[in-house]
Amino acid sequence: MRLCFASQHNGSFVALARGDGWVNLSQAMRAYPAKFSWLLLYPEHTLVDSLRHTVDLLRTLTEFVADLENTREIDRYRVQGQMQILAPTTNPSKIVALGRNYAAHAAERGKAVPTEPVLFAKAPSSIIGPQADIVYPDGVQRLDPEIELGVVIGRRARRVPEEQAMQHVAGYTIVNDVTARDVQEIAQDKGYPWFVSKSMDTFCPMGPYLVLPDEVPDPHALEITLRVNGEVRQHSNTGMMVFKIPQLIAYISQRMTLEPGDIIATGTPEGIAPIQRGDVVECSITGLGTLSNCVV
Ligand code: MG
Repeated sequence: MRLCFASQHNGSFVALARGDGWVNLSQAMRAYPAKFSWLLLYPEHTLVDSLRHTVDLLRTLTEFVADLENTREIDRYRVQGQMQILAPTTNPSKIVALGRNYAAHAAERGKAVPTEPVLFAKAPSSIIGPQADIVYPDGVQRLDPEIELGVVIGRRARRVPEEQAMQHVAGYTIVNDVTARDVQEIAQDKGYPWFVSKSMDTFCPMGPYLVLPDEVPDPHALEITLRVNGEVRQHSNTGMMVFKIPQLIAYISQRMTLEPGDIIATGTPEGIAPIQRGDVVECSITGLGTLSNCVV
C-alpha cells in the first residue's frame, strides 16, 4: 500500500494509491465515524495524525479498503483532476538522522566508520514536499544534497529490542538530508553541534509517498540513486548500511522514545558533491518513487 498527503481545492487529505489513480482516504474514513472516531477531533487530519491514532495502519487500512471494494464504494472517493503531493509527514515530533552509516561515505569524508550509531537531529520545520524548492541560503558557500532511506515510525517505541523493532515501522519514504557543508565543517572544527547546518528552512525534502511494509519486503535491498540535472551522483544499495534498521530502532529507542510519525534518516551513501541555484535534484529509491526538487 502506498499513501500520500495531498492537497486540492484549498484542502489537504490523506490519499491511497489504487490502480493508476488515488483514493481520498480522508473523505472515505469520515464516512465511517464509528470506525474512525478520532477523526471527529481532527477534521483536518494529517498522515501523522493517522499514524498517531491507529495502532496498526497497514492492517486497519487493508481491512477498510477491502470493505470499500466489496461494496464498490471505493469509486465514490476517487480523486478527480490534479492534486498536489505534499510531504508525507509535516509535523513529526523529531527527525533522527544518522551520520556515516555507509562505510564508503565515511571514507570520502576522511572519517572512520563508527562503532556505534552517530545520531543528530534535523528540525521538523525544515521539511518540504516534492516539487517544493530547496532555498540556497545567502552566505552558505557549499550546499550538498544527501539521499537517504527514511523510516517512518508507526507505533511508539521505547526500549524496543532488535527482534521487535520492525513492528514499530509504519513504512518508508525518501529523505534528502540537505547540508550546508561549510557551516557543518566550521562547527565541527570548533566542537559545536551540526544542528544549524542540517536544519535551515527547506533542508529536508521528503516524499513523495509513505510506502507501507507490504510493498517493501526487504528495506535493506533497495537501490538508492541521486541525480543532479539528470547526472548520477550517488548510487548504492540500502544493504550497504553499517547499522541496519532494527539496530537503529533498538539503539535510538533505548535513549529516547520514538513517536508515531517520527522519521529516522538512515544515512547517505558515497558520492557527495555540491549543488547550485538552478539545479534539479532527483532522489530515487526502488519502490519508493522519485523525490524531485529545484534549488533556488
Ligand atoms: Mg545525512
